[in-house]
Formats: sequence, C-alpha cells, structure tokens
Amino acid sequence: MPRTLLYRVDLTKIEGEGDFPCPSCGNLISPDDESGLNYEIVDIKTDRQGRLRELIIICKKCGSEIHLEGFELLDELEEEIEDTSEEEDI
Ligand SMILES: [Zn+2]
Repeated sequence: MPRTLLYRVDLTKIEGEGDFPCPSCGNLISPDDESGLNYEIVDIKTDRQGRLRELIIICKKCGSEIHLEGFELLDELEEEIEDTSEEEDI
C-alpha cells in the first residue's frame, strides 16, 4: 500500500465560498463541485445535533487524504450561540 498523505484544512482560514487548493497538488476542491472528478468524500463526522464537524475527502488527482475542519466555528459565527459546553466523543 502506498503511503497516504494526510492534510488538515481549517475552513475558517479559507477565504471565499469554501474552495481550496489541494495542499499537495493544488487541485482546486470546491464544495459545489459534485462531479466527483476532483475529490471524493470518504467520511462525514457530525455532532449530536447533526451539524457537520469534519469532512474527510480524498483528492482524486494525487490521492491525498484531506481532513476539513472548522465547521463548528462557522456555525458559531452564523448563529452566535451562547452554548460553549464542550462535548468529547471518545
Ligand atoms: Zn491533490
């Protein structure tokens, strides 16, 4: 098995509509791109409210595994929720 490269991308540090280049090969990955040609979603992690916490995708150009993080921060920005309790999933 070839070694899979793993990158983490923080959505809160991305400008624009959520597009970002693959950290490895620069292939542009867009959440609006549903063609399945540029990337493939392999796992979706949500919290108890069903909100997106982490998206794990594979870049189809270079095969890197990319963990998209920062969704919870986006939620807080949108809703300005006052609930700050931390939940740990083990
Ligand atoms: Zn790539």
